[in-house]
Amino acid sequence: MAKKTQINLEDIPGVGEKTVEKLKNIGYADPMVIAVSSPTELANIADIGEATAAKIISTVREKLDIGYETADKILEKRTTVAKIITGSKNLDNLLGGGIETQAITEAYGQYGSGKSQLGFQLSCSVQMPKDKGGLDGACLFIDTENTFRPERIVQISRALKLEPEKVLRNIFVARAFNSEHQILLVEKAPEMIEEKKVKLIVIDSLTSHFRADFVGRGELAGRQQKLNKHLHQLQRLADAYNIAVYITNQVMSRPDILFGDPTVPIGGHVLAHAATYRLYLRRGKEGTRIARMIDAPNLVEGETVFRITENGLTDV
Ligand code: ADP
Ligand code: MG
Repeated sequence: MAKKTQINLEDIPGVGEKTVEKLKNIGYADPMVIAVSSPTELANIADIGEATAAKIISTVREKLDIGYETADKILEKRTTVAKIITGSKNLDNLLGGGIETQAITEAYGQYGSGKSQLGFQLSCSVQMPKDKGGLDGACLFIDTENTFRPERIVQISRALKLEPEKVLRNIFVARAFNSEHQILLVEKAPEMIEEKKVKLIVIDSLTSHFRADFVGRGELAGRQQKLNKHLHQLQRLADAYNIAVYITNQVMSRPDILFGDPTVPIGGHVLAHAATYRLYLRRGKEGTRIARMIDAPNLVEGETVFRITENGLTDV
């Protein structure tokens, strides 16, 4: 279960109430953000001396136990990784058994490619017992495009031989109004995760609000910074609580790509690095869907075919 590191900034020698206040005001209350800062950066931003900044950073780093880990420890942690099946054996195989806990799985693709449907499917299958491919847990569903459909949950859970009413009661849906609200919903997630036995977080879609809230070229850097922090927060939740995170993403067409598929995911390098597994979904022949695994750290790259039916995802 979650190993919580309680760090009170107030307890660091030489750090007064005023400094804590300053840090909180500029959004540096999260120890991880402090831990990855440089003393000069922190000193400038919080308007404190560089020596104090260095002291704060080193204390936080010590407490957070940031540094090297031996590979056997990592392997040990990997053994607790669990998977949620997708309804399609083909897709499960492509994913190495299903979508993983302690990881962020992203699906990107055109409108109608099946990104949301996969989210609905996972929200149901996570509730199945472990020996049936679920995690016997609940789901947090952050809906940013107003496309969550409880009717689909009813259909899919029936097909999985689950009680629809029960399944619906275990999906906690929040409609995010803008990117700030979306960030806040994730920040508040730990309480819900513990209280409701949450094993899956879905964000459908991760990027739409960020895209809408930060227009203009001048805002790109700010957007990527916020997105980066948001994604790190999601990864920390995935690790700390051993839960799966599924996010969807939109695509854009790059006119400068003359050969091959010009469809690229939005979110740039920030998202490319943060997502552990990236699935590219597209329409195939006769109503099928094609999923391609992109850049997986431990899986072969490849493609597979599945279908979306009234009962959810299935093989062809
Ligand atoms: P997006 O990638 O934009 O999120 P969706 O995941 O919502 O797209 O996929 C929409 C597609 O899912 C529809 O075009 C349709 O092919 C399929 N679909 C949705 N509901 C049903 C249903 N009840 N029965 C069969 N197919 C469905
Ligand atoms: Mg959708």
